[in-house]
Amino acid sequence: KAKFATAAAPAPHTNPEILYTGLFINNEWLKSSDGRTFKTENPTNGKVIAEVQQAGKADIDKAVKAAKDAFKLGSPWRTMDASQRGYLINKLADLIERDRAYLASLETLDNGKPYLASYYGDVASVIKNLRYYAGWADKNHGKVLPTDGKYFAYTRHEPVGVCGQIIPWNFPLLMAAWKLGPALAAGNTLVLKPAEQTPLTALYIAQLVKEAGFPAGVVNVVAGFGDAGAAIVDHPDVDKVAFTGSTDVGKLIQRNAAGTVKRITLELGGKSPNVVFADCDLPYAVEQSHMALFYNMGQCCCAGSRTFVEDKIYDKFVEMSAARAARRVVGDPFRPDTEQGPQIDGEQHEKILGLIETGKQQGAKLMTGGARHGKEGYFVQPTVFADVKDDMEIARTEIFGPVQTILKFSQMDELLERANSSEYGLAAAVFTKDIDRANYVIQGLRAGTVWVNDYNVFGNQVPFGGFKQSGIGRENGPYGIKNYTEVKAVVVRVTEKNS
Ligand code: NAD
Repeated sequence: KAKFATAAAPAPHTNPEILYTGLFINNEWLKSSDGRTFKTENPTNGKVIAEVQQAGKADIDKAVKAAKDAFKLGSPWRTMDASQRGYLINKLADLIERDRAYLASLETLDNGKPYLASYYGDVASVIKNLRYYAGWADKNHGKVLPTDGKYFAYTRHEPVGVCGQIIPWNFPLLMAAWKLGPALAAGNTLVLKPAEQTPLTALYIAQLVKEAGFPAGVVNVVAGFGDAGAAIVDHPDVDKVAFTGSTDVGKLIQRNAAGTVKRITLELGGKSPNVVFADCDLPYAVEQSHMALFYNMGQCCCAGSRTFVEDKIYDKFVEMSAARAARRVVGDPFRPDTEQGPQIDGEQHEKILGLIETGKQQGAKLMTGGARHGKEGYFVQPTVFADVKDDMEIARTEIFGPVQTILKFSQMDELLERANSSEYGLAAAVFTKDIDRANYVIQGLRAGTVWVNDYNVFGNQVPFGGFKQSGIGRENGPYGIKNYTEVKAVVVRVTEKNS
C-alpha cells in the first residue's frame, strides 16, 4: 500500500526539463569562476541528468559579497517593512504551489524518492513551512523592560546578518525551505549550498526567489562540494552557519566556525530508538515501525533505526515486520504504487550493503532482504534483521538505508539505559496504551523529539533538533526563528521616570 492517495495528484513530468544549472548570485545566473562543472546523476539508473556549475572559493566569495551588500544599511532589504518580507515569502510559496508537480518531479528525478512522496510529502511541507515563517516576519519583536533607574530599556530583534546554509541530499527541497523561511522572515541574507548529489530543485527555487521579487543578493544559491561548504564556514563575512548533514562534517564545521565565532546550528545524524510495548495495537505498531525506518529509503536523520520490542510480542512482531518489508514495492519512483526508490548514490549504496554484511557476520538474524535490488541504479532490498545485539555495528552506526534492526527487551530500566546508550539523541518513539508507562519513557529518553503511538510526525510549529551529538539548536516553530535573530539591548537615559 502506498502511503499517499493517488486521486488528486497530477501526473508527474517523467522527463522534466532542466532549466537552471548555474550559480545564482545577485539574482543573476553565472558560470563558475574557474570553469568547473559537475554532473548530477539519476540514482534510478546512474545516468547523468545535467552538468551543473561548481562553486569554488572565488564563487563563494562572490556570493558572500552579494549577500553582504544586500544586508548593508539603507539597502532595499534592510529598509523593507517586515510585513513585506512576509509577503515575499508567501509569494515564493505561491510560486512553488504553482509549479508543484514540476518541482516534485524534478526532486524525484534527482533524488530518487517516489513522486507521490515528493508531491504530497516534500513539496506540500515546503509550501506550508514557508507560509508559517511568512507569518512570523512581522511578529518577531522585542520587549520593553522595567529596568532600574531613569532609563527606557528595550530589546530589538535584529537579523544575524549573512547566513551560510549547507544542506544534504535526503530532503533537498524541504531542507532548503527549513533554512530559507526563518532566515528571511528574520531579515537575514544568505548563501545556500545544496548537496552535490541533488542541486537541481534548489536551483529552480532560486529562480522563483527572483520571480517573487526578492531584492538582488538576499538569496544566493551555489551548488558545489564540501570545499565550497568549507569556504562558507571559513568566510569572515558570514555571521552564521546552519548545517544539516553528517555528524562528522558537523564536528568539522563547529571547529572551523570557532575561528570567527560564527553562530552555528547543526542538525546531524541519529540512531533513534523506537520502543514497542506488548500492550500496543500490534498491526498498527508494526506498520508505524516499518514506516519509521523505511520512509524515504531509510534516508532520514530521525529514522527509527533501533526498534526495541518487548519480549512478550517479540517473535510475532519480527514475523509481521519481515512480511511487511518483503511486501514493500521497490522500483521506478515515478510509478504511483512504488514505495521505495533507489538510494542516493553509489557511495551510499556500497556503505549500506557493507553494513548489511557486518550484520550477517556478527550474528544478527536476517529475516528478509540483505542484498541489492535489481541490476541498475542504487536499489537495496528492504532488509530486516532480528536478534540484534546492542554492540553490533548495525545497532550503533547510522545506516541511512532500508535496514530495520529489531532488538528485544524485557525490563523498563534496562530498556531506557540501552535506548540512551548512543552518542546520538535526535528522535525516539514509544508505542503503548499505558499513559504512565508512556510518560516514564518520554521523560527518560534523551532525544529532541519523542513521538507517542506514531512516528515521523512533523509540524512547522513544533521544534526539531538533537540532544547530544545529533546537533545544536532547533528548527521550526518559534525556536527556529530565534536561531536567526540577534537580540540588541537598548538603554536610553530619560529625564523623568514614572511607573
Ligand atoms: P555530508 O555531511 O558530507 O554532506 C552534507 C552537506 O555538507 C553537503 O552539502 C556537502 O557538500 C557539505 N559538506 C561536506 N563536507 C563539508 C565540509 N567539510 N564543510 C562544509 N560543508 C561540507 O553527508 P554525506 O557524505 O552526503 O552523507 C554521509 C552520511 O551523513 C550519511 O550516510 C548519513 O549517515 C549522514 N547524513 C545525515 C543527514 C541528515 O539529515 N542528518 C543527511 C545526509 C546525510
